[in-house]
Amino acid sequence: MLKPGHCLHSSAPRIMERPQAKRRRENETLKSLLADKSISLKSLERLLPKLRTGDTPAGTRYQLLSAYKERVEHVVVTEALLDSKGNPVNWDFCCPSKLLQYMVDVCPPLEEIYAQAANENRGEWKCVVTFDEFVPGDKLKCNNHRKAMTLCFSFLELGRRALVMPVCWMFPVVVRAVLYNSVDGGFSNFLRIFLRRMFFGANGLLTAGVPLELFGAPFLLKASLSNLLSDGDGLRAALCWKGANSLRPCMRHWNVTKKGTAILDHDGSAELVDVTCSDFNAFKRQSDEDCKANIAVVVAAARRRGAAGLTNTMFDTICTSRGLSYHEKGIVFDPVVGELIKQGVITIDWVHTVLCDGTFSVECRLLLERSQEKLAKGFPCVAAFLQGWRFPMDKHMEMKVLHRVFDDFRHSYCETHDKLKANASELLSVYGLVRHWVAVELSGEPSMANEVASFNLCCEVIDIMLFTKRGKMAMATGSRLLKEAHQRSLENHKLCYGTEYIKPKHHWPFDVADQWGEHEYVLDAFLVEKAHLVAKSIADRTLNTSQFERSVLAGVLNYQVGSLLQLGPQQQLLGKSSPFPGFPDSRVADNLCIDGVTVSVGDFAYLGVKVGRVAACVSEGDDFFLVVDALGLVTRIADHSGTYAFDNRRLVWDARNAQLALAWREVAPACFTVIFF
Ligand SMILES: [Zn+2]
Repeated sequence: MLKPGHCLHSSAPRIMERPQAKRRRENETLKSLLADKSISLKSLERLLPKLRTGDTPAGTRYQLLSAYKERVEHVVVTEALLDSKGNPVNWDFCCPSKLLQYMVDVCPPLEEIYAQAANENRGEWKCVVTFDEFVPGDKLKCNNHRKAMTLCFSFLELGRRALVMPVCWMFPVVVRAVLYNSVDGGFSNFLRIFLRRMFFGANGLLTAGVPLELFGAPFLLKASLSNLLSDGDGLRAALCWKGANSLRPCMRHWNVTKKGTAILDHDGSAELVDVTCSDFNAFKRQSDEDCKANIAVVVAAARRRGAAGLTNTMFDTICTSRGLSYHEKGIVFDPVVGELIKQGVITIDWVHTVLCDGTFSVECRLLLERSQEKLAKGFPCVAAFLQGWRFPMDKHMEMKVLHRVFDDFRHSYCETHDKLKANASELLSVYGLVRHWVAVELSGEPSMANEVASFNLCCEVIDIMLFTKRGKMAMATGSRLLKEAHQRSLENHKLCYGTEYIKPKHHWPFDVADQWGEHEYVLDAFLVEKAHLVAKSIADRTLNTSQFERSVLAGVLNYQVGSLLQLGPQQQLLGKSSPFPGFPDSRVADNLCIDGVTVSVGDFAYLGVKVGRVAACVSEGDDFFLVVDALGLVTRIADHSGTYAFDNRRLVWDARNAQLALAWREVAPACFTVIFF
């Protein structure tokens, strides 16, 4: 038996070779070829004649195209709309009920997930809808013409495991901004049309329900909308909200106003506060009734607009005071669909609130500007420092260009005051690395003591968010600690920099904390990040925009079905495996997948305070282990980093408890600096 903590002596088995990078594809069918997002139709067309063996059909362009679009034709619907000039435009998206039925029908692993959830939850389910914007092409050189919005949905009842697997989310909408902006009401109108079909259509989740067949048994899926998740910009576009920079920068608290507005001086009730306020007890929740009343005022004013006594300027003032933009076809002004948007439903994403263009990027920029000024250590130093690190194999390709994010941050800041252009997981790595840089380069500098203290408090907020997200503390505890930590952070920031750099996003962590008091899981951009990246990579190749929506959806659907059909167990060895000498029931491989995270030979991992380099991944029945070459601590650098050297022990760890290190680099022979989360 293999046991955790087991020490293998130097006679430990030699680890098998890395599996061949390119698997032979000859025997896969055309459709499974099409599920691969990395291969374009064009290259497939060239490739097929060379592979014409086994059951791979010959592919003419026409055959390929129809095979590519075969799946999407089962589920796609077209909404005929008129643009603001009165010209007809068509919008293709997947009908949510057909998509659910189709996916469950053709993907037995998904059917099993739904069947299990159906056995446990007979009543009305809770549906999460999330949307986000992306720009196809190189993220550091963007071309806004093909900017698009993607939308996914899933159900809380499917459980945490299914929620963290992007392939288990339904992906019904990709739509270019040029398309939805050409129609009155913009994205809000599109979302209204989609949600109306999804909840109130013939097979709506709130009306007749979606009939599913789960292993031969009928199940009528009914659900209400429990969360509408996006970042501030997404929610602004979707909910006819004036947005972060309006008079009402918070959708949750009615008494929070724009920074330094004159209204504060005339506030007789002394109830109003602005976004710089750090006293979370002062915030007052907006009720559904308040919300309805605001909408009613705007609708009533819109009817009288232009008539005697109500000029357009007065109408605009009314809208501004309620924080709403009026569009007749906007979702909140629809008497039926608007009912879905209850106060508790609006869910703001913490990743965009703190990391991307959020509190952390503000804090980071200010710190670097000050340190450049005082010590001549700024952006160029960090950009140089970010190079030369090793990352876990799974992420290495994307992570090794991280320094470009920082180059870009500096440049775009100079030009446009813009944000860090990187996806959520890249930003997390930037966060870990910059925190290490600050600890090494700045923490000993007395002239930077205040700035460093403020930066570290900001990091503490992110740590609490990550801990809660990973299920290491209860949601209620996370919620309380987050409020307290963010209060400390905000107060310190004000002491150090005043209120000049405070943005509406400095208030939103309080809203995130509030939400956690009501939610079962941390819902955030990470859940569907991979799904968005798949859509993005398919959109990158879709240059012809005449059928953009349909083509991208076809690609996403092919990829999703392909991945779902290959969906393995929660934990599994990846690639080739061979018997583990001396342990009859064990197998050894170079890669192991645990809950969607891939661990590979050569990666640095940690277990509690112990650090090791993975030498092999081993399975024994349902148990999974990592064989690691242990490293001993030489010097601690900061709270989250240290220098380690091999100590000639080979250990066995329980793979479920081990965590991957964030990054490492060799600083002397067999001696490494390792950074953790
Ligand atoms: Zn708020």
